[in-house]
Amino acid sequence: MIREMAKDKAGAEKRCNEAYEKAQKLQPVLNDVITFVDPADQLAHLPEDGLMRGVPIALKDNVNTKGIRTTAGSRILSNYVPIYNATIVDKLNAAGAVTIAKASMDELAMGGTNLTCFTGPAHNPWDPRRMTGGSSGGSAALVASNVVPMAIGSDTGDSIRKPAAYNGIVGVKPTYGRISRYGIIPYASSLDHVGYFTRSIEDACISLQVLAGRDERDMTSSDRPVPDYSKLLNSDLHGRKIAIMGNVVESIANKHTVGVFNDLMDKMKAKGAQVDVYHFDDALMKAILPTYFIIANCEATSNHSNLDGIRFGVREDGADMKEIMTNSRTKGFGPLIRRRFVIGSYGLFEENQERLFRKAQKVRRLIVNALHDCLKEYDCVIAPASGDIAPLIDESKDQDQLSDTYMVAENYMAIANFSGYPSMTVPMGFEDGCPLGVNLTCRAWDEETMFDLGKAIEEITGYYDLHAEVK
Ligand code: GLN
Repeated sequence: MIREMAKDKAGAEKRCNEAYEKAQKLQPVLNDVITFVDPADQLAHLPEDGLMRGVPIALKDNVNTKGIRTTAGSRILSNYVPIYNATIVDKLNAAGAVTIAKASMDELAMGGTNLTCFTGPAHNPWDPRRMTGGSSGGSAALVASNVVPMAIGSDTGDSIRKPAAYNGIVGVKPTYGRISRYGIIPYASSLDHVGYFTRSIEDACISLQVLAGRDERDMTSSDRPVPDYSKLLNSDLHGRKIAIMGNVVESIANKHTVGVFNDLMDKMKAKGAQVDVYHFDDALMKAILPTYFIIANCEATSNHSNLDGIRFGVREDGADMKEIMTNSRTKGFGPLIRRRFVIGSYGLFEENQERLFRKAQKVRRLIVNALHDCLKEYDCVIAPASGDIAPLIDESKDQDQLSDTYMVAENYMAIANFSGYPSMTVPMGFEDGCPLGVNLTCRAWDEETMFDLGKAIEEITGYYDLHAEVK
């Protein structure tokens, strides 16, 4: 899609204006946009050429855009207008991409529902009674409803790969350091990744080519060369070694999902792949979620100590500085965020640090070592991205959060944030008219293999340019 659009130079203006109008038309149903961006000015300044010339795109609203409000889905930043662009915005502009929307997201990218945005929940294009998943839910909905072929997201625990599954699209979290994070409002710096959604593997390749590369303003970015990923694409499965994450599959209660997944594995085998069930230590798998929460909450508490109503954002009245900060933070954040800051502060107290934060870092290392060992032998680990289709918005609260289904099947994908390894979700099937996704994680810097395997899956399922017609 992206390649054809970029070639069709004469169609750029019409295409981008139509995307902008369609997003507005769907907004009453999907509520997936926080701020609409009029494409006129960008269209007047399009480069002569570019991999995304005249291609309409959307940005998650934690991506700083000069002169355009950037809220990160939080009331406290609801009046924040950045004075600079994130590096990826400059890169996208240089490639000719045209931003039409800043997409809805869970507040400060915390959460997996997209129900916590200060502008209200985003709705799933396949069935608007259902959630999009989060935290990059608005971006996912804009791609799944065929408004834009690509949207930026961010992924700290699974925030691209889970909504990709719920929306029937491709969701990519590349290797840590592959895409610059300069100008992205952070969540948890050791886990945060910039990534994106598309509706085909080829578009995923083109997008990474545009976005990746060293940025002097982000010391965690890598100077490895950026290949033309789409030229390297090869869906041949002969000789590929795939490890099914046995613990995840066993923790899924929904037999239909397991059936769809096993069927896909059989077809990959038939096409020449070696597919084995691999068992990780159960204790390590169950430790992923608690370890994630301690590290993520502690880092978030520290990163967001500058959101005080004084330096940035919405200020509440108070008799003195302390009271202004207390009032601004109390009213500026939703209940989930406030709870997480309490947990994060507790983990960072001097007397708790060794027992909580430092210990979590050690457990993280053990989990990464186990994944690393598996990937010495296999090209990728694979499992359903979720046990079920997107939950109904009002049913989302009744989950047993200590069950294996929740702790392992629904939250294992943070393993790729712990390790920084590239990880991607692609659609694999349907239930009740709503999509199911499969997730694969490969070795560090081996996006090439990840895209190859994704391409093979795309050919098996036929899910290319999958999208919903919103009623
Ligand atoms: N659901 C996870 C959380 O609540 C993941 C969020 C993310 O990846 N940004 O933190």
